[in-house]
Amino acid sequence: MNEGFPLAPGTVIGILGGGQLGRMLALAAGRLGFDVVILTPELDAPASRVARETLIAPFDDPDALGRLADLCDVITYEFENVPAAAVARLKALGAPVAPNEKTLAVAQDRVAEKTFLNEAGVRTVAFLPVDSAQDAVAAAAQLGAPALMKTRREGYDGKGQKWVEHAAKAGAVFDALGGVPCILEAPADFVRELSVIAARGRDGALAIYPLGENHHEGGILRRTVAPAPASPDLSAQAERIAAQILTRLDYVGVIGIELFELADGRLLANEIAPRVHNTGHWTQDGCEVCQFEQHIRAVAGWPLGPTDARARVEMLNLLGDEADAWAKLASEPETRLHLYGKRQAKPGRKMGHINRLSRL
Ligand code: AMP
Repeated sequence: MNEGFPLAPGTVIGILGGGQLGRMLALAAGRLGFDVVILTPELDAPASRVARETLIAPFDDPDALGRLADLCDVITYEFENVPAAAVARLKALGAPVAPNEKTLAVAQDRVAEKTFLNEAGVRTVAFLPVDSAQDAVAAAAQLGAPALMKTRREGYDGKGQKWVEHAAKAGAVFDALGGVPCILEAPADFVRELSVIAARGRDGALAIYPLGENHHEGGILRRTVAPAPASPDLSAQAERIAAQILTRLDYVGVIGIELFELADGRLLANEIAPRVHNTGHWTQDGCEVCQFEQHIRAVAGWPLGPTDARARVEMLNLLGDEADAWAKLASEPETRLHLYGKRQAKPGRKMGHINRLSRL
């Protein structure tokens, strides 16, 4: 599997997806001497404007996948909803893809994800699959109400989920979510939302960043404070969770793991994102090697870099027209500004972020 690795500078990394995560990956790859080719259906995508070449086509377009496989020495992705068939095709064409297909299958389906986590010895909330309105009522009777119903696939930023306030209403909630396969989750009575960003190299080495503490508004990440205040026990729990997940998946690359901290100090895993993660943006200015460079190092078969924090960071997402304040933000000495080059600001759209630095 590691034949041909480490990749030498001058070789080519392919990225499925052209958003801001792809853009920041491409910038990190460029700094290490790699060329980047993007595959995205979007014209003028944020990542395209910093990459050598963009193939504009649907992710499952056979010609585009063939061309990508020809051009690239390794292929990765910046979002977890790339079609599994596209990754299978790239592999069949002989192109190495990281993270692997098993990871995608797990991350694309909330029931598969929580089942995998439990099997890996990582605790989650109690949950049940729901495939019909009758299932929904039975599941709510078993788990109790309130409970949170989420679509099994393709939910993000709080979309595709609704609270079931009374067990008898569970069928109506299922219908309101579109009658698609769902998961019903017991409520997590958390005191904080945390995340751990971690990486695994092709040699199996692990690199785990300090915890981030996350604050959401309207389902969208607003700010991350990192390193989060954490006892040695809490940090050790997070590191154990990351190690179990990465090792079990035979993972290569950076992963984001969202966690709930309970009042008794236990951590539950909520979700894994098999890619660089918004809650890891603080590492760009807070760590020796940021998550984007780390991901490129991992998929290219390079040694992983140090994850130590060298500053305390408050990361704030710039949503919609908030990025219009760029001139003021650029004048603040403790603020590092990251803009995604998106042409149009819409309410809630992630246009950039800032990392505000203070001493550790
Ligand atoms: P998710 O799409 O799973 O990342 O969930 C989005 C947000 O909903 C999380 O960041 C939590 O704030 C909240 N949430 C998700 N699952 C639960 C749960 N089982 N209990 C309570 N809150 C939850």
